[in-house]
This record gives sequence, structure tokens and C-alpha cells, in this order.
Amino acid sequence: MDYLPVFFKITNQPCLVVGGGHIAKRKVNLLLKAEAKVTVIAPEVLPELKAQILASGGQVIEQVYQASYVAAQRLVIAATDDMVLNKQVFDDCEALHIPVNVVDAPDLCRFIFPSIIDRSPVVVAISSSGQSPVLARMLRTRLESIIPAAYGQLAAFVGSFRKQVQHTLPDTSVRRAFWEKELQGRFAELVYNGRTQAATEHLQQALSTHQQHAGEVYLVGSGPGDPDLLTFKALRLMQQADVVVYDRLVSQPILDLCRRDADMIYVGKARADHAVPQEDINQLLVRLAQEGKRVCRLKGGDPFIFGRGGEEIEELAAAGIAFQVVPGITAASGCSAYAGIPLTHRDYAQSVRFVTGHLKDGTPNLPWSELVHERQTLVLYMGLVGLEEIAKQLIANGMRPDMPVALVSHGTRPNQQVVTGEIATIADKVHESGIKAPTLTIIGDVVKLQDKLAWFGVTK
Ligand code: SAH
Repeated sequence: MDYLPVFFKITNQPCLVVGGGHIAKRKVNLLLKAEAKVTVIAPEVLPELKAQILASGGQVIEQVYQASYVAAQRLVIAATDDMVLNKQVFDDCEALHIPVNVVDAPDLCRFIFPSIIDRSPVVVAISSSGQSPVLARMLRTRLESIIPAAYGQLAAFVGSFRKQVQHTLPDTSVRRAFWEKELQGRFAELVYNGRTQAATEHLQQALSTHQQHAGEVYLVGSGPGDPDLLTFKALRLMQQADVVVYDRLVSQPILDLCRRDADMIYVGKARADHAVPQEDINQLLVRLAQEGKRVCRLKGGDPFIFGRGGEEIEELAAAGIAFQVVPGITAASGCSAYAGIPLTHRDYAQSVRFVTGHLKDGTPNLPWSELVHERQTLVLYMGLVGLEEIAKQLIANGMRPDMPVALVSHGTRPNQQVVTGEIATIADKVHESGIKAPTLTIIGDVVKLQDKLAWFGVTK
């Protein structure tokens, strides 16, 4: 983060604007919205700006800027077209540690103004850290259209009940659940429609009957890594969970989308290479839910495809805990799409088979003859360790030695890498390329289509 986002309380605080033209006026408008006490200094000040300042109880000094004016200010904005003067204002403020903004000169800004969506008291501020104000404004437009106009009213209304709800429901997570339910339901609708009396009655009724919510578990597939591949449902549950239990395959950009104050528990392999045993994970989920928490068990890909999701919900069901399962895009779908390899194709493959090479005693023990099939794509979910042995066995069981193979590493992520070769020599290619886990192996004639179909930008 290049800038720290904060909201500045400047009600009745002295703020100085150097400059008296239209740009200065825009900044003054903003300061006055936040009820600052504004002083404008410039040899010439637009008459309407002058009138506005005086009406708000501020001060207009029609003189040349002098450093002495800066001293008592909370904030200073320089909005002149004289860059020498702007620089001087900046230096004077810096010397006194007073936050300063020089309009349109990011190098001369101690703080910058975001794009704003104003649904006071709800205010959304968006910044591109000065890199692309146009992009920030475009994002603002999109958000404007999805945030109901009466959001501010809703926030203000809720604010008036905060103390009462805090008193009645002292437990933070119970209270959070209460508000999450009410802010998305009938209560919010009543407020949006201006029916405040009915909304008040509804809220009082809900408050008197609200129970400690029972814990539950969301078993959520987070896809292969690109956060754009999350489902809406996954995102919603990630953002309402009290605890997130995640493993190694869940990418950082996805973790960044979980609720900020959720407890994050990592159960993947640690440095010492010991994953938390499955049985301990199952018990952890049960315990957290029994404490009344909403637990998001976040997994890479799809939870029911080599994800041990079945074992986890068996335990939850046995303990009588409510759960829901959210499918995710499995590595085979994500990697094949992003690498330009269709898993089936009229001319090359009429079936596709997902196989895991991770075996209990470390040696692959697969139904080899079934795997060797014309017009069938094989997708191996596993590390690269067993690949040499698997390739040998497939050839020994009749696979053509020149059968095309693709290894997709870090599929759908910015560092995706695709290595292609033939089954007889793929193990050597692994060593040459230095390709790293997680890697998915796709075996079949469909791999030949990769050259034609890979979209530009994908590393091969
Ligand atoms: N439930 C997961 C699979 C877990 S098994 C799913 O549906 O995708 C773990 C294996 O998945 C890894 O060894 C690797 O073979 C594959 N995998 C998962 N994510 C991957 C990714 N982003 N790129 C390549 N392979 C991946």
C-alpha cells in the first residue's frame, strides 16, 4: 500500500486553501461538506467562492501567500497554477509536519484525495494511489450503481440503535450475526422505503427474539488460484465467516478477500512439511462450530475433487453441525482453460478421467489398463514426484510413447507455466524446466491443440 487510507475529522478545524479559482473552489466545497473552517488566501478570489466561505463562517484573505498562514492549520491545499508557489506551500507545510496536498502534483502531496461515493454517514473512498485516477473514477461509477441511494439513511438509522443492540447482545459475534441478518432483510427494505416506524418495530421484535446463532461450516472451493474464478456464493460466505480454515493451495489474493477481522487458521503443510493431520482438521471444524462460529473451510479447487471434503462433512454430520458445500472450479478445468487445452474434443477425446497419483505408500498403484485408452484425456492431480514411474507404467501398458503431455504449474495464477512434451521423455523435461508444484499433468492428443488455442500472455 502506497498510502494509508484514513478518514479525517475536520469539523470546525482550521483548513487553508491557497488559491482563489475554480480548482480551489472544488476543494473548498469538499472541505465545507466535512464542515471545516476554511481560510482561502489569494490575491484574487472568485466572488462566488468568497461568498460561500464567508457564509460558512470562514475567512478570505485577498493577499499574496505568506508562510506564516500555514502554522495553525490542520490541513493545507495548494490550488494555484504557480508551481513555484505550490512548491513553497508544500515545503512550508512539510517543515511543520502539516498534511498538505498540491492539486495535480502527486510529488507535492503528503495526502491525496480519493474518488468519493457519498452516502453519508457511509462514505466510500477509492484511490489508485495516484496511478490512474480515471480507473478509480470508473470503479466509483460502478459502485455508485450498486450501492442503494438510501444506504446513508440505513446507516444513520442503524446508528441510532447501536447502543441498545450492544446492550442487549453483548457478545460481538452474536451481534454481528444479528446485524448481518437485519441489514440484508426486511428491516433494510423498510428503511429504504422510508417506513421508519415499521422498521423500528421490526427491529425491536427481532432483537427480543434473537438467539445465540448456532455455528455452521461452509466447505468452500476457492478454485485454482485466480480470484476471478471464485463463485459469488464463495465470496459471500468468505466475507461473513468468523473463522477461515485454509490450506496450502488457497492463493494469497483469495485469502485477501476473506473478511478482514476473521481469524485465519492455516492447516496446510508447514515448513517442516507436516500438514495438520486430517483427523485434527475434522475435529477443529467441529469444535469451532460448536463454539457458535461460522467457519469457512476454504480449499483449493473443488472440495469434492481430491479435496477430502467428504471426510470433513461426514464428521460434521456425525456431530450434528449444519454445513453447506460450495463447489469450486477444479484444477483440471482452470488449468486446461488457461493453458488452451480442451479436455475433450470431437476429434481427439470423448472422455476425460481425473486421477490422483498420491498414494498411501508412496508408490502409484493405478488401474493401468483402464488408463490407456484411445480418445481419453488423463488428468493427473499430484506433485511431480511419481510422474516418471507413471509414464513408464502407461507405456508398459500400451500407451504410445509419443503421446502428448502438458504440465501446468501454478495454473490460472500470474506465474502459470506450461511445459509440453511426450510421455516417453516428460520426466526429463521436468528436470530441465525446473517446473514447480502445484502442477497438473494432462495426457492426451488434446494437448496438441495447445499451440493453436493458448491465449496470448500465457507463458509456455
Ligand atoms: N481439490 C483440488 C485438488 C486437490 S489435490 C481441485 O479440485 O483442484 C492437489 C493437486 O491439485 C495438486 O497436486 C495439483 O496437481 C493440482 N492443483 C491444484 N491447484 C493447481 C494449480 N493452480 N495449478 C496446477 N495444479 C493444481
